[in-house]
Amino acid sequence: MSYEHLLVAVDLTEECDPVIKRAMAIAMDNSANDAKTTKVSLVHIVEPMAMAFGGDVPMDLSQLQQQQFDQAKERMERLFNKYPDIQRGDSHLVYGQPRQEIHELAKKQACDLIVVGSHGRHGLALLLGSTANDVLHGAPCDVLAVRLQKKE
Ligand code: AMP
Repeated sequence: MSYEHLLVAVDLTEECDPVIKRAMAIAMDNSANDAKTTKVSLVHIVEPMAMAFGGDVPMDLSQLQQQQFDQAKERMERLFNKYPDIQRGDSHLVYGQPRQEIHELAKKQACDLIVVGSHGRHGLALLLGSTANDVLHGAPCDVLAVRLQKKE
């Protein structure tokens, strides 16, 4: 059985390239073996700043938050230009918590594979958790964790 719609979670750093490339390769393979085209969509979640600071910050973060959102939008745009086969219409930039938003979007768009990057953490870093770990738990479909190389 081949996948029909891949949802790639991107953190918008240079590390998202190997994750997108892996997803595109799977989509190309699937499309070559099947009459149907496999769709690839992107999702990036902007975490509310108040959440990151514990929800109790004595200043107005709305301008900073807007800047963060605009910057993310620009970076998403660059990815659409770099990978023209990505489904622009099904890609999303949303505020929220990565696990929850990725699961919700995967359900809403009937995605059958979520693709995330994984740093293969161990020791204390593992205890602190990772987005890949988080996304795996309770996922509404298959999840592929693409191993990211450590920078030397
Ligand atoms: P991390 O565990 O935060 O180092 O991130 C590992 C992977 O989780 C990234 O390669 C992305 O696939 C995904 N990810 C992390 N942060 C986000 C985000 N804000 N929005 C979407 N995906 C993310």
